[in-house]
Amino acid sequence: MSDPGALGRFGNFGGRYVPEALIPACEELEAAYRDARKDPSFERTVAQTLEVYAGRPTPVTPATRLSQELGINLLLKREDLTHTGSHKINNVIGQALLAQRMGKRRLLAETGAGQHGVATATAGALLGLDVTVYMGEVDTQRQQLNVFRMELLGAKVVPVTSGSRTLKDACSEALRQWVSQVDEAYYCLGSVMGPHPYPWMVREFQSVIGTEARRQCAGLLRRGVPDVVVACVGGGSNAAGTFAGFVDTSARMVGVEAAGGAAMTDGSPGILHGFYSQVLQDEDGQVKEAHSISAGLDYPGVGPEHASLGLSGRVEYTTATDEQVVEAVITLARMEGILAALESAHALAWIIQAAGSGDLAPGSTVLMTLSGRGDKDAGQLMTLLA
Ligand SMILES: *Cc1c(COP(=O)(O)O)cnc(C)c1O
Repeated sequence: MSDPGALGRFGNFGGRYVPEALIPACEELEAAYRDARKDPSFERTVAQTLEVYAGRPTPVTPATRLSQELGINLLLKREDLTHTGSHKINNVIGQALLAQRMGKRRLLAETGAGQHGVATATAGALLGLDVTVYMGEVDTQRQQLNVFRMELLGAKVVPVTSGSRTLKDACSEALRQWVSQVDEAYYCLGSVMGPHPYPWMVREFQSVIGTEARRQCAGLLRRGVPDVVVACVGGGSNAAGTFAGFVDTSARMVGVEAAGGAAMTDGSPGILHGFYSQVLQDEDGQVKEAHSISAGLDYPGVGPEHASLGLSGRVEYTTATDEQVVEAVITLARMEGILAALESAHALAWIIQAAGSGDLAPGSTVLMTLSGRGDKDAGQLMTLLA
């Protein structure tokens, strides 16, 4: 995918809409990242850490029984098999190594489902950096186990009690805290959002998913490239990382949002957390709350590059409902022995629906990024299905 322009924009989207006090911090970060990208020893350290610590490369698994049932050829890119259980570790290892290179001593992070918080706490422990995680109070209750995991890993978890007490409020608080601690703290942002350079930098760190998958597909498929590439979209980082590997091919690309938090489908252009993109908002520009069964997709915005890819038509964006998602989790568990995260199951829910309706032609080869494992959601599902 293309790099953003000098102002950090993908088309019209993106930019840097932050308080005056944060502009130097964003500029320092951009300069440090541009410098690190050019340094082969930094690139090597990131790649090596992903390999020996995070378990990369992750496999591509043919979903054999489910493929037969759906009449397609379904391949799963297994980010659920990484250390800490989701693709978030790819970005966090990159950013934590960058923070260390910049001489920062503390990582700040926001988290929704807790996955990004756990990944940041993990990277902090690995590199000996302090970690403070901001988490909406509602999410701390929905994901108690992840709060405890972060604390076990030595991180401090701060419940955020403003607004809807979910991910968007945690993001606001983390940005506020970055302003006040900018000398010693590095803000480790969890998706392809926020002010420039985050949407670009996070996509680059996640592009390891698409790069690997492209190589693996070349070995697995006669045509070398799948017909369709599908990923779930919250902020959009696993999707951006996946699409980066296929944007220059003929593959149809589909991003699937939660029906209750579909910034691409139901949003309009606006500013949120430092960037201009598609945002769920009312007529007065008040940001609406997102509602999804999965805390990780409960975000009213989407990364600016997705807004641009949607506008150009290169990527299609669609939605899945909570009911379809629960059904998809159960289907994958029973037919393939894989317990997917609720977030990841959005992508599968669309695939199941599209195979049934004929939107996916019989015999199509479909690559789906399975962004994370579902162990964290087992308690929630137990209550729901009781
Ligand atoms: C956080 C999360 C997501 C959503 O984040 P993106 O930035 O859209 O990738 C998806 N899947 C899992 C497992 C997650 O933890």
